[in-house]
Amino acid sequence: MNLLIMGPPGGGKGTQCEVLTKEHNITHISTGDMFRENVKAGTELGKKAKEYMDNGQLVPDELVVAMVKDRLSKPDCENGFLLDGFPRTTPQAEALDGALTEMGIKLDAVLNIAVPREKLLGRLTGRRVCRSCGATYHVIFNPPKDEGKCGNCGGELYQRSDDTEATVNQRLDVYEAQTAPLIEYYAKQGLLKEVNGDQDIKIVTQDVLASLGR
Ligand code: ADP
Ligand code: AMP
Repeated sequence: MNLLIMGPPGGGKGTQCEVLTKEHNITHISTGDMFRENVKAGTELGKKAKEYMDNGQLVPDELVVAMVKDRLSKPDCENGFLLDGFPRTTPQAEALDGALTEMGIKLDAVLNIAVPREKLLGRLTGRRVCRSCGATYHVIFNPPKDEGKCGNCGGELYQRSDDTEATVNQRLDVYEAQTAPLIEYYAKQGLLKEVNGDQDIKIVTQDVLASLGR
């Protein structure tokens, strides 16, 4: 199954991906995670991406598209993939359509996790992420059993440097201007499944799985 998950920053995409990838045995492709790995490793791509990420701006389309095309060609995508955080602009969506056509594959569904903007600042500033396995927590809505420690792997939890109030507001403006129009783009292709993301995490998971026919 080839899936795409959309929604605003803090909408709960990464959280739902943890379940979806296990349930469908597909590979999680998060462009945000890929950029953060490149920044950490100090690659040329990471150096270029960092300034955009720190300012809450989008990394230029050509860099993102090349990175995703390369990733989709890896053997672990053959059984299916879950794209998270890509595409974020109309040119990225068009490039994805072209790449999938070239590969002779199609998207099976596009999930849109909808959450009102006023809920997102609190979700993002309270987010904590595991340095080792990438699992996502929230200080109030999804706290780890032991403070600062991942419940899956025991790894250290940290706060993303772009999860500050000023950067979050910029990211939400960018989302509304550049990414939200893609909801209509995929609705027109008949692929869109809308899920109410403004509910308890477990209920959102139930709705996500149900929308895919499980
Ligand atoms: P995204 O990947 O869309 O940016 P995340 O999955 O990282 O979003 O979620 C952002 C923050 O909100 C995290 O701290 C997460 O634990 C929390 N969160 C996710 N889903 C919900 C929900 N349904 N209700 C409350 N908090 C949530
Ligand atoms: P995320 O982890 O999805 O919140 O992404 C973190 C940051 O990485 C974003 O604010 C962008 O700067 C960058 N980024 C991730 N995915 C994309 C994309 N598809 N297009 C452009 N920039 C991206």
